[in-house]
Amino acid sequence: MPAPSRRIGRFAPSPTGLLHAGSLLAALASCLEARSQGGQWLVRIEDVDLPRCSPEAAHGILRQLESFGFEWDGEPLWQSHRSEAYTAALERLRAAGHVYPCACTRREIADSALLAPDGAHRYPGTCRTGLPPGRSPRAWRLRCPPGLIAWHDAVQGTQAEDVNAAVGDFVLLRADGLFAYQLAVVVDDAEQGIGEIVRGADLLDSTARQILLQRLLGHDTPRYAHLPVLTNAGGEKLSKQTRALPLDETAPGPALATALDFLSQQPPDDLAHWPLPEIWHWALAHWSLTRVPKVRQKAV
Ligand code: GLU
Repeated sequence: MPAPSRRIGRFAPSPTGLLHAGSLLAALASCLEARSQGGQWLVRIEDVDLPRCSPEAAHGILRQLESFGFEWDGEPLWQSHRSEAYTAALERLRAAGHVYPCACTRREIADSALLAPDGAHRYPGTCRTGLPPGRSPRAWRLRCPPGLIAWHDAVQGTQAEDVNAAVGDFVLLRADGLFAYQLAVVVDDAEQGIGEIVRGADLLDSTARQILLQRLLGHDTPRYAHLPVLTNAGGEKLSKQTRALPLDETAPGPALATALDFLSQQPPDDLAHWPLPEIWHWALAHWSLTRVPKVRQKAV
């Protein structure tokens, strides 16, 4: 496994729809951060949650990236082709006693009424000491040790979470037989040697879980930088659900200029109308992660 390098960055979209102005921020910032240090930039298609993803959206995203002038290194990695690696990681965790089978249904967990701070249901640990008599395993969960996981985020500053208290033992292999995002992302980041993860602040809440998994699997923790998330006027994250429009592939300049402005890179007023290679040239020469606003969300 390659040692994590700050010089390898990645963009890891879930192909549940096409890219919009919000997802462009993560693509652009992760790319500029890696390339401005002379590093590699990889694209990973996070289609592990197969029922929510489509190959059309994945190919559409790659086409959008190309028409916006992004150039990635190597072939994109598809999570849907990676179940052997996820199985091996789960097996290692199982052999070390870090995971256990769980028979609980969603309803049973909801009925136990333990609410995590974000309003999600915290798993009460029903199956931690063994399956109740007569029940069969549905999912596999990580046995989360108590204690704060702290890290420094290059944009958001010092962060800490007690995963056990906040989410409890979380699922690594789902009842439908699919691997959970948390496991897939940790296995893939380690295998791809990712040294710096630049992504939206909506994923800050996942970071402690991922660091915990990295530690249990013996992987180094990459550097993290969580960008403000674009919201609509009502404070909702731009997404397919909030009907964000897909990026217009025929006019990359204005969207890139808006994204650079949003990231406080102070682009020249007329940058939107420059030829695409010149926009990229300017963006690479002037990129500074330290200018990115230290907020979790920002309205368009
Ligand atoms: N696939 C995730 C998303 O599109 C991003 C995961 C990550 O960057 O770690 O929200």
